[in-house]
Amino acid sequence: MAKITRKPAPRKAPAPKKTARAAVAKPKPAQKTASAKKSLKATKPSSLKPWTPAEVHDAFSRFRKANPEPKGELEHLNPFTLLVAVVLSAQATDAGVNKATRALFEVADTPQKMLDLGEERLRDYIKTIGLYRTKAKNVIALSAKLLSEFGGEVPRTRAEIESLPGAGRKTANVVLNMAFGEHTMAVDTHVFRVGNRTGLAPGKTPLEVELGLEKVIPAAFMLHAHHWLILHGRYTCLARKPRCEVCLINDLCRWPEKTV
Ligand code: SF4
Repeated sequence: MAKITRKPAPRKAPAPKKTARAAVAKPKPAQKTASAKKSLKATKPSSLKPWTPAEVHDAFSRFRKANPEPKGELEHLNPFTLLVAVVLSAQATDAGVNKATRALFEVADTPQKMLDLGEERLRDYIKTIGLYRTKAKNVIALSAKLLSEFGGEVPRTRAEIESLPGAGRKTANVVLNMAFGEHTMAVDTHVFRVGNRTGLAPGKTPLEVELGLEKVIPAAFMLHAHHWLILHGRYTCLARKPRCEVCLINDLCRWPEKTV
């Protein structure tokens, strides 16, 4: 009798974990994440010389001087609308989300009003945003859960926020930071790239970068650090063509390919 041998399963290369998780369906990886990964290929972040505490302090002092009160670009009216905006922003631009939520939040700025609006009409408001069907389901489900389990309020712990449909670690970090002033570090594609490229907090996954940044950034800067790094990645340390010549921290940055 022939012996049956099983072929070992092919090994997959490790991929960065997703930071936001949809309870109903997971969004596909974004194009921008792929390009960010590509731009990091030659960087070998693990070989970069670590920053000294004085250098980190210097870098964030410069960010603070240039922009003392950085603001997130997702428009919202209260913790609930912030939570909804962050859930809608997965794999979408802040500008695209704002365009849809301006009208939406005029009619639905609480979990009860969102439930009253209903999934079908919600879909109409957000149909310009990618994955809007899944997101509409999630927003209705999270509104129902906020009412049934949290008295209609956005909860203040990471575990509770992550238990909501469509919310993951990044969502929890953004809400805890922006709504409740916690010193959390949400790692999106921009923060992931900046953390690795500069050598400030190298890591293969968003979680590694998040924990690395939390470790090196002094507490005095943590409230705004997330926004400074996002804005730096979005407007200066661009994925394809970083603007090193106007970069505030170009003398400190460890990226071997920086252009200054
Ligand atoms: S010097 Fe260039 S690569 Fe380094 S942080 Fe600044 S923009 Fe990014």
